Amino acid sequence: MFQKILIANRGEIALRVLRAAKELGIQTVAVHSTADANAMHVRLADESVCIGPPSSRESYLNVHQILSACEITGADAVHPGYGFLSENAKFAEILAAHNLTFIGPSAEHIRIMGDKIEAKRTAKRLGIPVVPGSEGAIHDDREARQIAAEIGYPVLVKASAGGGGRGMKVARSEADLSEALSTARSEAGSAFGDDAVYLEKYLEKPRHIEVQIMGDGAGNAIHLGERDCSLQRRHQKIWEEATSPALNIEQREKIGNIVSKAVADLGYSGAGTVEFLYENGEFFFIEMNTRLQVEHPVTEAITGIDLVHEQIRVASGAGLSVRQEDIWFLGHAIECRINAEDPYTFAPSPGVITHFHTPGGLGVRVDSGVYTGYRIPPYYDSLIGKLIVHGRNRVECMMRLRRALDEFVVDGINSTLPLFRELVGNVDVANGDYDIHWLENYLAESR
Ligand code: ADP
Repeated sequence: MFQKILIANRGEIALRVLRAAKELGIQTVAVHSTADANAMHVRLADESVCIGPPSSRESYLNVHQILSACEITGADAVHPGYGFLSENAKFAEILAAHNLTFIGPSAEHIRIMGDKIEAKRTAKRLGIPVVPGSEGAIHDDREARQIAAEIGYPVLVKASAGGGGRGMKVARSEADLSEALSTARSEAGSAFGDDAVYLEKYLEKPRHIEVQIMGDGAGNAIHLGERDCSLQRRHQKIWEEATSPALNIEQREKIGNIVSKAVADLGYSGAGTVEFLYENGEFFFIEMNTRLQVEHPVTEAITGIDLVHEQIRVASGAGLSVRQEDIWFLGHAIECRINAEDPYTFAPSPGVITHFHTPGGLGVRVDSGVYTGYRIPPYYDSLIGKLIVHGRNRVECMMRLRRALDEFVVDGINSTLPLFRELVGNVDVANGDYDIHWLENYLAESR
């Protein structure tokens, strides 16, 4: 097992990883920018190192500084959290070259899944159902027209290097196709430095359902069920649940087993999420994230398994602590991502939190790095914390969520708490009756 883990991240996820490491008796090193000197992960870590000025590029993304911090503190492994360097294959290779363990999958697997065309090809080869579309990159308009006619309109042009929903354009008919191609290409070129695009069938009313897996790198893998993350704004998830209100036990087992067999065959190591769109009873692969996800706590709530413990175990060579037959899905869990944003305009709202009170009680978990008097810096993402509520079934979970949201106090800045108080009382949300466009439509009508 590792002696000392350096956590190359900030905010709630740095604290999340720190807690898991402490429970395993491992020393922790926090790194931070000058803007985060008073952050909770810095206060609670055994050691901390300032790695640069506020800008992420010069601090949390600064590989040289992170390597120096490892050397100074004698850390033997690095946990990247999510975002920042977590899906950077080069970073994983550099760590390995310095005899440091990257707590995550191999650089090769990060690289494959980071390239959407390659990821889709790999998924298909491993027996995972994919969205109908082009086999690879599209070279010219004629080829695009031919493939679009085969799969049928509407089609979606997607960037191979895409992320965060950028470089995606819908073409509803052949007349829109060449404009969609050129817009997607130029967006992708300027955002990612790679203008390769491919075509996919555009699904009109899908849900976003993703499967959590863990592999041991030696050909064994388990799945931990699915999460339904259909409530999204601008392709950003804001509310996630496990299990999905749309699936029954047989469907859950079926897709879970397909995915765990595929990642076992790949020899995948560590935590990963295989994301699908789900429509009319069918799953369509869209991408695989090779890291811990923001919404992992809902899976932990219904399985009782600490995913960060498992990540650390696997990376250290200790293997997984559970087998598929040890995993049970108990009850229902929902996570709300509470952001420092205006709940109506979604404008960022940095500043001092004058009062912060978190709810408690049975089945309530809050993952957050903020506290009363904390100043939210303007340089990073706007997540203040995650409220995760668990109940014996979805109805109990919703009742508890409503109560927990009422108790939650964030004063001094704007937060998205009022939006969640609305959503928990909405009849469609109460019925679990929503697709990936539901929230955007709701916001357009109610604001
Ligand atoms: P990114 O990496 O940019 O987030 P994804 O491939 O994960 O890209 O897609 C992001 C979101 O875009 C999905 O959650 C879904 O809302 C939408 N999307 C992606 N592919 C399709 C598709 N074929 N049909 C309809 N919507 C899609």
